Amino acid sequence: MVPVYVIPADYAVPLEHLRYHARVLDDVRTWYAGATGGWTFTTEPLVVQISRHPFAELAADSFQAWWPKLQREFADYGLSWNRHSTIKLLLLVHGAGAWAGADSENGGIDSIAAAGLVDKGRWGGLALIGDSSAGGVLAGVCPEVAVAGAGERGRGGGTAWWCSGSTYRGTVAHELGHTWGLPHPDAFHAGFRCADSTAYTIMQCHWEYGRERLLDYEVTHLRSLPSFRRDTAVDVVLLSRAAPVAAMGARSVRIESGDSPVWVDGRGGGTGYLWGVVLAGAGASVQYAVPAGRNLLSVDIGLARGARQAAIVRIAADGQPLALVTVEPGSPPQRVVVPLRAARLLLVATTQGSGAAVLGNARLY
Ligand SMILES: [Zn+2]
Repeated sequence: MVPVYVIPADYAVPLEHLRYHARVLDDVRTWYAGATGGWTFTTEPLVVQISRHPFAELAADSFQAWWPKLQREFADYGLSWNRHSTIKLLLLVHGAGAWAGADSENGGIDSIAAAGLVDKGRWGGLALIGDSSAGGVLAGVCPEVAVAGAGERGRGGGTAWWCSGSTYRGTVAHELGHTWGLPHPDAFHAGFRCADSTAYTIMQCHWEYGRERLLDYEVTHLRSLPSFRRDTAVDVVLLSRAAPVAAMGARSVRIESGDSPVWVDGRGGGTGYLWGVVLAGAGASVQYAVPAGRNLLSVDIGLARGARQAAIVRIAADGQPLALVTVEPGSPPQRVVVPLRAARLLLVATTQGSGAAVLGNARLY
């Protein structure tokens, strides 16, 4: 899963929203573990993408216009979710109202009996969700936790049924469920409704996040997917959260510590990393001890915004060179994956150029 917080080109970057969305994604991951008996999805860390389109172009005459424009934009960035891609793209979109939708390459399971027995849900998907509920919470207009029985038609909301932090999390969990191939339960249970049911499922009653669960066949299906693991612990080690063994001219960025994201230009209006390590010019370096069982480095490497000269980034493990990456001004961040071959010490250094290099979302699997 690739989660992205999308901001229209002409909107300011709302720092509070970034922290909030990082928490929302953690919460939804934990929610799935609770609903499936300990299984949850693997995900990349959240990134921020300033769109190449201003608000007026994205919204056009209806909010449906967000859908094709953003799909095309992310396909141009190499993040196509269809055509046999395995990418599940989750776009949380600033300014897109309370609109939400999902699409899936597989269309979803056709019957309860098919749950867990078909590969539907393994292929690509797209979920696009407007962040107005989150905006309402941060503005103090919507409650963080929906009040039971309050809101429109008793749906437990604030000023509107969608207006609460818990409903927002429920919406994210619901739309992700579609991308994994789960339909609404009334596809199999004629007339299934939340209001007169004692069985709550996120796939029907997503405004009831606090008491929702998943139905048995939904759990069976999710557990069968390769993207679901029985692992409620943190599934990646973010290098920006680890203490380096040695560092020179290196700075860690962590959104939860109050840091602003670090920006790389070259894609739309810029890509922001909520976690990362910045190496300030030639000669900067950082070393980490690789924890046991971690054998893959995944990182987006780019040039920090404002840098005028290229940088060359060298990655080595236990003294053996593994990769050399050149980043030029204006070039987009490069997705780099390096097997560490049971190495114990990881070194990342800038060997040439005065530009500051960004190791965006640098992490170990
Ligand atoms: Zn739905």
